[in-house]
Amino acid sequence: MRFEGIEADFVNADVACRFTDCDFLFLAADSFQARLVFNAMVHQYLIPGIQVGAKVRADRDTGAILDIYAVSRTVLPDYGCLWCNELIPPARLQDEAATESERRRQRYVDDPLVNAPSVITLNALAAAQAANDFLFMMTGLADPTADNGYRIFRPAKRQMSPHEPRRDAGCLECGLSRASRRARGDAELLPTRGVATG
Ligand SMILES: [Zn+2]
Repeated sequence: MRFEGIEADFVNADVACRFTDCDFLFLAADSFQARLVFNAMVHQYLIPGIQVGAKVRADRDTGAILDIYAVSRTVLPDYGCLWCNELIPPARLQDEAATESERRRQRYVDDPLVNAPSVITLNALAAAQAANDFLFMMTGLADPTADNGYRIFRPAKRQMSPHEPRRDAGCLECGLSRASRRARGDAELLPTRGVATG
């Protein structure tokens, strides 16, 4: 096994292009720009992937905790994408593109005044599901009756719920129309920052 660590931002064109010949992708990033590039790469190059993350939502006024969850989202070329499921809000993309500080703000808690909580045990739930999904897919041991939907863990409630992703037939990322980026490979530019020079 070979490990190559790359200390750079995935959304930069020169970095992203190094992932386009991978067999599988895991996304565990904080920014919506990273989701955008990952989502495009899955569908443009037909590489299966899984996005994992955790979030603690708090009421800005009272500080009350509203929700604590971890999620593992399987993103497959034929299974609906993160755009279709409104998981890449255009307004948030614009915010991130606007300033570096906005990009830092996309953290586990949406309030910049709140220190980021320790979410390692939450992330562990989502990462374990993602790693198991990958292993069972690759070895052919996945139960044929199992769905490929998202898994949302709410450990404070001791709940795990499945969520079936939507697929919009007219989606320009995963749809089958001629305008879609799906399966276009190197014929289409990824929505990266800058253009690959290599
Ligand atoms: Zn889509």
